[in-house]
Amino acid sequence: MQQLLKVYGLRLLAWSVLSILGCVLLARAELSALRAAFETDARISHRLLSQRAVQHEAVLATLALLQPGASPGEADPATQRLSSVYPQILSVQRRTPGMLWPSTGLQEAELASQQTRAAALTNTDFAAASGRYQLVLSAQPASYALLIDVHSTVPWNEWPMPVQTSPVRVTLEHAGQAFVVQPGRIGDAGWRFEARKHLSSVSQPFDVVAVRQVGWHELPWAAMAVWTLGVSAAVVVWSGWQRQRNARRRAEELLRVGQVARLNTLGELAAGMAHELNQPLTAILANTQAAKRLLQDDPAELPTAKQAMDQAVAQALRAAEVLGRLRRTVERPLGAPAGEAVDLGQAVANALYLLEPECKRLGVATKVEVTQQTSVLAERIALEQIIHNLITNALQALDRVPVGERQLTLHIARGDGMGVLRVVDTGPGIAPDTLPHVFEPFFTTREGGLGLGLSLCETLASGMGGQLQAHAPAARGAVFVLSLPMAPSK
Ligand code: ADP
Repeated sequence: MQQLLKVYGLRLLAWSVLSILGCVLLARAELSALRAAFETDARISHRLLSQRAVQHEAVLATLALLQPGASPGEADPATQRLSSVYPQILSVQRRTPGMLWPSTGLQEAELASQQTRAAALTNTDFAAASGRYQLVLSAQPASYALLIDVHSTVPWNEWPMPVQTSPVRVTLEHAGQAFVVQPGRIGDAGWRFEARKHLSSVSQPFDVVAVRQVGWHELPWAAMAVWTLGVSAAVVVWSGWQRQRNARRRAEELLRVGQVARLNTLGELAAGMAHELNQPLTAILANTQAAKRLLQDDPAELPTAKQAMDQAVAQALRAAEVLGRLRRTVERPLGAPAGEAVDLGQAVANALYLLEPECKRLGVATKVEVTQQTSVLAERIALEQIIHNLITNALQALDRVPVGERQLTLHIARGDGMGVLRVVDTGPGIAPDTLPHVFEPFFTTREGGLGLGLSLCETLASGMGGQLQAHAPAARGAVFVLSLPMAPSK
């Protein structure tokens, strides 16, 4: 279960990290593109409005150069034409010496203009309904004042954005007043871009303020969905590939264990063959001793002695044949038991890993209990072979009880200076008259069983200086206890 959680958790983590990272990068790229477009629009707006402001200064300077033709108070024909060329200039006023401006604002502005020798701003009214201001230039022989309409100041034909639908809000701000050039769409959530810049005109010190609020809905959701789907597909393909690779590895490992089992079984068979050799050797001994006696007789019983020798030769040939057969069958003899420190828990995990599909198929609940981490001095392959056999036997026993009762527990502990592994199952157990025989070669109660597994395990265990015991607890099931010498601590 833990293993499963680990594997799926890892995949989920990889999927989330890749999906989130990709989506964040896509969103960032989109936001950067939107910001770049916004900054370009804000720059163009500022440039166009600045050009108009400079134009107003130029118009005033030109008017100041003109000689006032008409009599004081009368409109000059040139100034009358101005409004048709510059629609934002609503009216032009002139003050010649001796006249007074109609408002104090204009008088003060003229004074300021006199001092700065530049146009001066006055009567600014940025209320939405009016949106006007006046610009005064003090000059000789006449001073001029322009009444300017802010809305008409905007060169709409060159304006970079569709004024009604653009999400960008553009305002002209001055001394706490703001004239909305373009309303835009400003929401609460999302990302806010803002560009604030002074008009490039000394006489009209307005701020051009552009604001753009990018809402969540403007993120590249389609691209992010495609990316996430792509990552999901990649994770699925990757998991499939990993599953296949694990299955292949498990199959290879099972094959290896199978080969070792075959070799070990052959070892057992060799023991049987040694038994077989005993018989011809005894016969050879008997025949040669008889022949010796017959030859010592006086006169020597030559024909009978020859007969005995012939029989001895025949028995020797049979023995040779047995040995030849053994040599042919045993391809690879088991090496001398090499002692190495092997972690019992790891050996159990390896064997369980190989038998995991079988455990699953049978619906066996498997549990590993480690009282103490234990390292034993053993031949790793032989140890795994024993554990493998014990678990296989337990599974075969569990197959004979109802699914809900199938439990297998592997318990690792230490006792009397030995590393101890207990393999406990809840199978039908071992009958009292069977128990003493389970380690005997060729003893089996299983249909199709060879009866060599436990005898081999016992041989291997004692070969490593340990022992294997079987118990049949009164309650139920069987317990096999494997003890091996502990590995010297490093
Ligand atoms: P095989 O499995 O070929 O019969 P083994 O040497 O592995 O040979 O087992 C010998 C016998 O010991 C089995 O036939 C069975 O009667 C008994 N035995 C082994 N393990 C168990 C177990 N876990 N529960 C009950 N009986 C078992």
